[in-house]
Amino acid sequence: MTDNTTASRDSPTRTQKAVRWHPPSYDIRVEEIPIPEIQHPDDAIVKVSLAGLCGSDLHVYRGHGGANDVHVCGHEFVGHVVALGSSFSEPAVGRPILYSSLKLGDKVVSPFTSNCGECSACRIGYTARCPEGLLFGSPSLNGGQAQYLRVPKAGGTLFNLSDPTTWTSSMNEEQKKAALSHLADSSLLVLADILPTGVFAATQAINHPKVQPIITGKPWPLCFSSTTGNDISILEEDRIFTAAIVGLGPVGVCAAISLLDTVAGRNIPYRIVAIDPNASRREKMKAVVDKVLESDGKQGGEFAVVSIDEAKDKVKEWTNGVGCAAVLEVVGNPSALSFSYDLVRAFGVIVSVGVHGEPPLPFNGSAVYNKNVSMDFGRCPARAMFPLAFDLLVKRQDVFGGVGEPASLVDKIVTLSEAVESYRAFDKGEVGKVIFDPWN
Ligand SMILES: [Zn+2]
Ligand SMILES: [Zn+2]
Repeated sequence: MTDNTTASRDSPTRTQKAVRWHPPSYDIRVEEIPIPEIQHPDDAIVKVSLAGLCGSDLHVYRGHGGANDVHVCGHEFVGHVVALGSSFSEPAVGRPILYSSLKLGDKVVSPFTSNCGECSACRIGYTARCPEGLLFGSPSLNGGQAQYLRVPKAGGTLFNLSDPTTWTSSMNEEQKKAALSHLADSSLLVLADILPTGVFAATQAINHPKVQPIITGKPWPLCFSSTTGNDISILEEDRIFTAAIVGLGPVGVCAAISLLDTVAGRNIPYRIVAIDPNASRREKMKAVVDKVLESDGKQGGEFAVVSIDEAKDKVKEWTNGVGCAAVLEVVGNPSALSFSYDLVRAFGVIVSVGVHGEPPLPFNGSAVYNKNVSMDFGRCPARAMFPLAFDLLVKRQDVFGGVGEPASLVDKIVTLSEAVESYRAFDKGEVGKVIFDPWN
């Protein structure tokens, strides 16, 4: 297989290695399957250089994902373009720029869902809910834990890391190029899901309308108007941004990094409590926060990493019993939501980015009424978040740059032959973020 031929056109029997899930649950197999082909003019075929194993893969693994069909797993991948559909062959006026500029051999990273880049949802930035979007690593679209995969609507979906002029950034073109020249693929892989999702959770929390009195120093609802003066004065203690992060897997850690970056950049006093029952996840969170605060300074804030048992007392102590202004729920089950509800203040916001399934939500009408609680649910529009995530990735190479160090997001890179054991160990919480190298 050379990098500039359409996969399998010259040899229909050509196969690749892929990690596939089989129903009903806990059945992962590494199998030889056909290399995908272009099916639509907007498709690209990507040769995968690295693919991530993610917490949301576990929903399917455990049989909770609503999936019934065998499919290639994984929704996080970095690779190179090896085939392009005919939409890419002409200047594509009025279409996303990649239809005009993406070339064979370009290095790409993809959000975990495809999206057209041309509909109202995509234009507005709600790319995760593009009506044409599909989730990689699901029965409707084979995933990235393979040597090759097909990317639909590739001009709207992919990011071309070989051409940084194709996305916006706080960096100029030279700075972007310089950054890209030293970013490892293992670092770029976090752009597929975990970093944009962490930034998404933090962005929703700190920009939520209910949080604005704390951020602006003006009481609600004057915080939204140019009117000045009020008969109630906000005190210094009211202006401390209090937040809890429930769940310290890789996305929870990314959310913490993003929150710390935002409060430091905007000089917001803060108290953040990060919570997980798993001691090794807490250790990782501590190592990351130490690293971040070592270079940024504390900026008038406090950050605690605690177990479930310690969390309520810590929040009570830090908020005078009021509760947190924002709770980031990064687990995706009813007990994590219920716990988040207990930690949030009245007029607070719960931002849930965990993947929720069939069980009913653990709230009734009076519970949500009595606390004036706001809730944000749902999938991160990873493509829209990409520019912010890329800038943070470059800035925080102290945590995103390494592999297997105490403060690294990525714990290890393994071969596809270790997939079965990696799923098992990840499911049991015995390892952190694992990445597959499908060519080793
Ligand atoms: Zn993921
Ligand atoms: Zn769309």
